[in-house]
Amino acid sequence: MGPVSGTTTRRVLLAFGALVALFAAASAYALGRLADIHEGTRALREVGGRAREARELATAVRDQYAHLAHTIILGNDSHRHFHTEARARVEALTRSLAEHARDADERAAVADIQASGDALDTLYRDTLLPAVLAKDAGAVEAAHGRALEWVSRIQARVDALTADSDASMAAFESHVGAVERDSFRWALLLLGGATLFAAGVGVYIGNSVARPVARLSEGAARLAHGDLDVRIPEDDPGELGHLAAQLNRMTGALREHQARLVQHEKLAGIGRLAAGVAHEINNPLGVILGYVRLLQRRAEGALAEDLRVVEEEAVRCQDIVEGLLDLARPGRGPLEPVALRDACEEVVLRLREATKLGAVTVEVHGEGTAWAQAPRLRQVLLNLIKNAAEASGEGGRVEVRITGDADGAARVAVSDSGPGVTPEARAQLFEPFFTTKPSGTGLGLAVSQAIAEAHGGRIDVDTGALGGARFTLSLPARQEAA
Ligand code: ADP
Ligand code: MG
Repeated sequence: MGPVSGTTTRRVLLAFGALVALFAAASAYALGRLADIHEGTRALREVGGRAREARELATAVRDQYAHLAHTIILGNDSHRHFHTEARARVEALTRSLAEHARDADERAAVADIQASGDALDTLYRDTLLPAVLAKDAGAVEAAHGRALEWVSRIQARVDALTADSDASMAAFESHVGAVERDSFRWALLLLGGATLFAAGVGVYIGNSVARPVARLSEGAARLAHGDLDVRIPEDDPGELGHLAAQLNRMTGALREHQARLVQHEKLAGIGRLAAGVAHEINNPLGVILGYVRLLQRRAEGALAEDLRVVEEEAVRCQDIVEGLLDLARPGRGPLEPVALRDACEEVVLRLREATKLGAVTVEVHGEGTAWAQAPRLRQVLLNLIKNAAEASGEGGRVEVRITGDADGAARVAVSDSGPGVTPEARAQLFEPFFTTKPSGTGLGLAVSQAIAEAHGGRIDVDTGALGGARFTLSLPARQEAA
């Protein structure tokens, strides 16, 4: 798997992780704001409670004053009891307010209310009530005036406290409202964003996992039905793309293997048939050639020319027969080290002696040793060099380049200055009987490829440095013949 291992898994985990993180952030934010609102509401309740107590206190003080006034109006102590009750209520409320006071100012105000209340009570019991009972109008009026002062002092304090609490409440209310609006907006934004993101993640996973998997399974199904031409798109950068590439490679290898198998079967079939026919034809051919050559010694003029044509055609028949026999048995036997340079030069010499090279220059470069059956290897070299010379024509050039690897593998590249191989011809070059030459057999390359493969090697064709074709024979490091 190599460096791409886990890419898809990582991407899916990352996408889900981001999604979960986004939802977690949204939830955490919403919870935080909720706690804020809760705290605000609690404070609001507290301030509200204080404001209510302050209002109750104002009522209680007014009550206390009312009983004081009744005592004066009625001129007896029948309201003394009510006054004491009102006084007790004022005291209880003042104590509660003192307990809940928020700061020093509030505490001072409450203490002042308490002191004023005490003073009012003392005034009522010690001065006003005795004066009323004694019917001392002057003293009653004076005491009433002082009492009013205390009462209005308490009222003013209580009003200030109430106003304060109301202001605090308004402030808290607006704060809570702001937090509510804010959190609603943010929660909407985060949750909406998370939902959009989730949709994006869904689409992304669909694209990067589901679709490639579907394509893979479709390709595999077609492959299972024997369609070796399927090609699965490899555009996914993760493991799935890697898998697709491997599947494609496997299909390619299978295709190649199948083609080679068919070619081998074809050759084997031709070989079996040809071996039988060739065997029967070889002897008569030998007899014909023997007689033709005998007759040629005595013939003159037009007859000599006719006999030369007969000889030539008979030799061609022999070539075909030999080629077919070679195809039938491309090479089985012990391997030996073959010095490629010597082998090439020997082949060139042989071709030159047989006047097959004409005015073509042949250069041999490089060194190398191959493990092969020497006669078979020489036959391949001869076929390649002869083809190159024929392709480059009069005055052409052929270059043979030998390279030997350290591990014993060797390559011989034969380039020529001929016209090269057309794309149509390239597909059939190695087919038996494919020839573009008037007197060709079309067996040279087929036999050569069969021999190369029997040695575990192969022949490839491309364009060489001389402008024409380049046929490269590659042989593997030392091994037993197939
Ligand atoms: P033959 O030489 O009898 O035609 P081969 O099997 O040797 O049969 O070659 C088959 C065909 O391949 C040739 O007829 C020719 O068209 C083509 N060919 C072979 N070698 C070359 C080359 N060096 N340059 C161009 N075409 C070539
Ligand atoms: Mg040939």
